Amino acid sequence: MTFEAAIWMILFIFVKIICKNMEGFPDGKRYNSYAGYLRRRYGQRLQKLVIDAGFTCPNRDGTLGRGGCTFCDNAAFHPGYSTSGKPISLQLDEGIEFHRVRYPGAHWYLAYFQSFSNTYAPLERLREVYLQALSHPRV
Ligand code: SF4
Repeated sequence: MTFEAAIWMILFIFVKIICKNMEGFPDGKRYNSYAGYLRRRYGQRLQKLVIDAGFTCPNRDGTLGRGGCTFCDNAAFHPGYSTSGKPISLQLDEGIEFHRVRYPGAHWYLAYFQSFSNTYAPLERLREVYLQALSHPRV
């Protein structure tokens, strides 16, 4: 076998190993993406709706610090419909309307409590806002 043939043989084996490792991963990816999992489970894309329930976090409220992390700029990833103090159901309705043009086929949605630490509140408060989201007919 020539040196060139050996290189091609090694390359061929390498590609076969890569292809073999990709088998079993849905959507042709090398990992099981959450978006792909949801699409398989519900038969369609699920669109995320950003919700602001007015949470804070211990690095902002003074428990551990103030000012928060440098990279945590919630204003940068908050669409207009997601506003602290606005009822959760209204944020969801406006979010669905916001995404209606871009994702006309979307019927089901994920309520994503984006702002700060979305488990940082007393249990009763968490239950209240989570149940408000879960009671929406399209969530
Ligand atoms: S919510 Fe998380 S990332 Fe943002 S300031 Fe608090 S600890 Fe940092």
